[in-house]
Amino acid sequence: MSYASALREELIAGAPRRGCCRVAYLRGLFLNAAATKSGKILLSVSSLAARHEIARVFHDVYRREALAERNTLLFSGEALYTELTAAAPRFVCDSCAKAFLRGAFIAAGTATDPEKAYHFEIRAADEEARDRLGDAFRAIAIPYKVREVGVGYGLYVKNGEKLEDLLAAIGSHECYFHLVNTRITRDIRNGENRATNCVAKNIGKSIDAANRVAEAIAAIRLARRFEEMPDELRMTAILREQNPTASLVALAALHNPSLTKSGLNHRLQKIVAFAEALSAKK
Ligand SMILES: [Zn+2]
Repeated sequence: MSYASALREELIAGAPRRGCCRVAYLRGLFLNAAATKSGKILLSVSSLAARHEIARVFHDVYRREALAERNTLLFSGEALYTELTAAAPRFVCDSCAKAFLRGAFIAAGTATDPEKAYHFEIRAADEEARDRLGDAFRAIAIPYKVREVGVGYGLYVKNGEKLEDLLAAIGSHECYFHLVNTRITRDIRNGENRATNCVAKNIGKSIDAANRVAEAIAAIRLARRFEEMPDELRMTAILREQNPTASLVALAALHNPSLTKSGLNHRLQKIVAFAEALSAKK
């Protein structure tokens, strides 16, 4: 089963209980409904499970059957269309907007498996549906983006953390936890990559530094200026030549009297500076 289907089934499993939220939920389910010339409501929904849910809730609330035709549901009732598709969704309590989005996702939503990408989208058939959907996202402070899809719009969320908030808000548990787990696993993996990159970078840096010192000493000898260096620098240069692979700590300990690591670093920098001064004079 796809992630989108799993999420849809999970959301269908429990309709809101409060009266105001049930109306908001129904409005969400009817987000893309259109009125026919004969005064009936036409609702096209590709998911069979979603069509069943819409028909069930509709029957619960209005005690009337819907007529199913392939991917389409037909509802009759004069005042119904106005009632269910009123321009501004009225969010009575704090949960109404969540119930609206829950219904809208069941009827017109799609979501990508978070292991592939963070993408949650609800289709709006026209500008009015787009604006009503936008109101609901804003009511629960979820930032969304809009794209044109065919003749309608797609309102989508791609931010992982906001997506978690959204899934929790519309009443998902399993898909919510799957998303959270995926994000944590990904964060840990990225963290490990960062740490590995950091170690590799530092190793690279010390190899560069060691090479620079070795090259500096070789350049000084080649220019026959080795004896011009102060005694302490010559001592360090000789120890470096004799112990090319010794770590800085080991090299510092070879000195008599022994040096601290930073004391050694200071001398190595002076040797490099001496070599640089020679090549600058050339
Ligand atoms: Zn409510």
